[in-house]
Amino acid sequence: MPQKLNAIVTGSTSGIGLGIAEAFAGVGMNVMLNGFGDPGEIEAIRQRLEKENAVKVVYSGADMTKPAAIRSMVADAEEAFGQVDILVNNAGIQLVSPIEDFPEEKWDAIIAINLSSAFHATKAVFAGMKARGFGRIINIASAHGLVASPFKSAYVAAKHGIVGFTKTIALEGAEFGVTANAICPGYVRTPLVEKQIPDTAKARGMSEEDVIKNVLLEAQPTKQFVTVEQIGAFAVFLTSANAAQITGAAHQIDGGWVAK
Ligand code: NAD
Repeated sequence: MPQKLNAIVTGSTSGIGLGIAEAFAGVGMNVMLNGFGDPGEIEAIRQRLEKENAVKVVYSGADMTKPAAIRSMVADAEEAFGQVDILVNNAGIQLVSPIEDFPEEKWDAIIAINLSSAFHATKAVFAGMKARGFGRIINIASAHGLVASPFKSAYVAAKHGIVGFTKTIALEGAEFGVTANAICPGYVRTPLVEKQIPDTAKARGMSEEDVIKNVLLEAQPTKQFVTVEQIGAFAVFLTSANAAQITGAAHQIDGGWVAK
């Protein structure tokens, strides 16, 4: 296992990805941030993470719908750090709509960002990880990688897909010290969830308050949102030497949702 680990976290300018990037930097890893947003705000995050943790933090604005941009992002990380030891495929978007109204271009975008980008990024890092005998690939799936909800057809399809892809990476990496795991969070109160509250209210004909109480937290027996810190800490554990035999698994962090 390398002394200093170098990680790429896709979609890390916000929400869960940012929480994982913070947790990684907090234990001394170099991190490549990725995602969209205000350039000034992203630069401020980059500088803060570097300063607070005495690590190297770089940023790639690669669009996860574009395979060539994903390959360039990995090449830029290799240039900045020398090698990539950890890849977290986290970037994701959501759209809540009945199937009959679901826009085709949104289906394609969700499959591209939430599923295919993980393939392109994994393909770009995999040979190097196998050759060096160490690698950790963490795919941020969802409880929706294991069970469905209505009106989230593309998201549920992509998330079930990434759980399957995780198993294949695990089998191909198993004899080379490369593990692959999916994390399946329940509801985390990030911008992605905030945005779907009004859409779900519209699709189900409910008030926004009722959506939080009777749709989102109704799914979670603990009746509490999962936090980005809880996911970040678990991701750190999956990168550790003690997690070497944990591979090909889908780990629920969902307040008991999928147990029901
Ligand atoms: P978020 O909206 O806060 O963050 C999404 C990130 O992805 C942002 O950094 C955004 O800029 C980036 N992104 C979006 N499109 C991109 C593109 N084309 N190229 C590059 N980056 C892009 O969302 P979040 O809730 O933190 O979600 C992160 C991941 O966690 C997603 O895969 C999501 O499906 C998954 N997830 C979220 C929840 C939840 O409740 N929030 C639950 C389960 C799984």
